[in-house]
Amino acid sequence: MASSRSRTVSAAIPEQLGFAGMPERLFVCTPSKLGAYTDCPRRYRYSYVDRPTPQKGPPWAHNSLGASVHTALKNWYATAPDRRDPSIVPALLRATWVSEGYRDSDQQRAVYHRALGWLETYVTGLDPADEPLGVERVVAAKTSVLAFNGRADRIDARVDDDGRPEAVIVDYKTGRSELDADDARGSQALALYAYAAARVFRRPCVRVELHHLPTGTVAAHEHTPESLDRHVGRAEETARDILAAEKAVTAGGDPDEAFPAQPGTLCGWCDFRRVCPAGSAMPAKEPWTAVDRPD
Ligand code: SF4
Repeated sequence: MASSRSRTVSAAIPEQLGFAGMPERLFVCTPSKLGAYTDCPRRYRYSYVDRPTPQKGPPWAHNSLGASVHTALKNWYATAPDRRDPSIVPALLRATWVSEGYRDSDQQRAVYHRALGWLETYVTGLDPADEPLGVERVVAAKTSVLAFNGRADRIDARVDDDGRPEAVIVDYKTGRSELDADDARGSQALALYAYAAARVFRRPCVRVELHHLPTGTVAAHEHTPESLDRHVGRAEETARDILAAEKAVTAGGDPDEAFPAQPGTLCGWCDFRRVCPAGSAMPAKEPWTAVDRPD
């Protein structure tokens, strides 16, 4: 007899499956959905399969910081070009500030001022007249296996070295570590955005950039059609693995086996560590740990 857990799990699954003898539906996914499975299949199950969703831990300050900075930059581009001046940044950041997850008001204030400094420096380097192709723009593309959609932070309209129009994917980063070209090259999310943006905007899109606001550095990579195809192929493999796991559960398999826990250093940062038997044995992080640093 199926456990109550497996009944709960399978209730969320059929929308991904076709009927017998009919072609299966495409696997609908975002970069974070694919990334969740790659990081830990159990985390994928908690996030996307189990319903109701298991209770998450408290909000993370680093997510609040990232959301605040991203929205401020979105609103920079929503401001008329003749008003895009570094002097508007404090108002933009104040209006979008997310206060959850910080240790206390002193820490929050320090992080706010740190973020303000990053943003003022960053926008000083932007051309106020520049209008990107998209800001927080959803791009989508289908393959024979998956229907991908994702929200790119920014998609720039530029010209390549030969003067031809191209689209460039820009992703803002606010974490501690500076990033390098290998991070840009290895990012499946950026590659999928590029793959989709080329189709949406009908222009080449092979350059992806990570803009690290804390250091003001840009880590870039120029993909080739082949390297983008490799990223798409790996995303399709992940999609097939997920579908196979979901089918196994639908067929009465043990959801714990179909979506195995992969405990590791990421557990400390996982929203489901408290409800996950494997993860709860791993050391916890405080919600504000990632933003805690001397100023
Ligand atoms: S706590 Fe660790 S093992 Fe459990 S779901 Fe999260 S990442 Fe996976």
